[in-house]
Amino acid sequence: MNCAIVGINWGDEGKGRMVDLISSDYDVVVRYQGGGNAGHTVINEFGKFALHLLPSGIFREGVVSVIGNGVAVDPESIIKEIEYVRSKGVKLTPDKLKISARASLLLPWHKELDCLEEQRLADKKFGSTRQGIAPFYSDKYQKKTVLAGELFDEKAFFEHLDGIMEWKNLTIEKVYGAEPTTREALKEWYDAYCVPLMPFICDLDDFYDDAEAQGKNIMFEAQLGSLRDIDFGIHPYTTSSSTIAAYAPIGAGAPAMKLDEIIGVVKAYSTCVGEGPFTSEWFGEEAAKLREAGGEFGAKTGRPRRVGSFDVVATRYGVKKQGATAIALTKMDVLSYMDKIPVCVKYKLDDRTTDKFPFPSLLDKAQPVTEYLPGWGEDITGVRRFEDLPKAAQDYVLYIEEQIGCYIKYISVGPERDSIIIR
Ligand code: GDP
Repeated sequence: MNCAIVGINWGDEGKGRMVDLISSDYDVVVRYQGGGNAGHTVINEFGKFALHLLPSGIFREGVVSVIGNGVAVDPESIIKEIEYVRSKGVKLTPDKLKISARASLLLPWHKELDCLEEQRLADKKFGSTRQGIAPFYSDKYQKKTVLAGELFDEKAFFEHLDGIMEWKNLTIEKVYGAEPTTREALKEWYDAYCVPLMPFICDLDDFYDDAEAQGKNIMFEAQLGSLRDIDFGIHPYTTSSSTIAAYAPIGAGAPAMKLDEIIGVVKAYSTCVGEGPFTSEWFGEEAAKLREAGGEFGAKTGRPRRVGSFDVVATRYGVKKQGATAIALTKMDVLSYMDKIPVCVKYKLDDRTTDKFPFPSLLDKAQPVTEYLPGWGEDITGVRRFEDLPKAAQDYVLYIEEQIGCYIKYISVGPERDSIIIR
């Protein structure tokens, strides 16, 4: 049995907590795209974690975590994260964590170039997390990166890397007027972060063959959401990788594998980090109140997230693109303080309304058409059965389910592992 857990909207939907919960039924959890710009929050018996590159299954005894070839493997970030979770008592050995030899390495200049470009863009910046993701993926597709598996032959590795460094320094010096990278700095980076990474790097072909032969359950954990996908997201305010479930087998390293289930994670209201159109956005006091109630500050950057009403138009689009077979609706408890709950049901574009998600360049002029649903006005964090939710909360779930056209199987009512209603 295979399953992908994916984001339906702008990211930060609560995928980490869903993977942590559902991974008890799985043997393998794979991250297949993105990189250290993720911030998947997991709260369990070990404490509270914001995971950036490590799959959210690492806390489970008996679960093997995999970082696939589609991920931007940043040795520094992974090694620091491994050290951090180990310091909290999590056992993390090469048996428990496997990194694809075919994954490309995020190199030190990728982060630097990310910062230099955001500085150059100034007030036109994209809101990058400055983890080097965009420079990494552009270099990957230019074939100007090195693969993790190359680390084992240090001499050949540096021969390859020297050529790339020479080319990259042209951009660093001549385009941005910054200091070039040196061979000495790269060697320090190699010794500090690449050498300790090597025990985790392996060829995943046999691993997947064995897992399939033994009928193991594999979960694919996505980063960000549909609206940030490089092909189907809100161009150009997307990330640089595929956040869509269809990419999971490719980025994981098992391209012929079929997905049995796709769980789309959706927040009970909307949030967005970074720039770009966000039609149902709230401002002022109301926004501050919702942001505070939901603790909407970036797990990676600490930046206040933009907040708004649940957006039926964007969510229906996201569900479709993911091919979701079931939905996990998170953070229902956050809405408990509202008397009535605004929901964006359509967009107004010039003189017409539409329930279809518009082409990216039209989104700037989209205005929300809002409907109000009754609030429930009571704490629901202790509820564990759908029938025990207040009637208005049940109606909110059923309304959203009908609007987005997908079964809501999980309703999360708090950040802890067991704060969940399974329908
Ligand atoms: P991810 O990137 O999709 O994993 O999402 P994040 O971890 O960035 O954001 C989700 C945030 O919401 C984290 O702080 C979680 O602890 C928190 N969270 C998740 N589910 C719930 C929930 O049902 N209720 C509340 N109050 N918080 C939740």
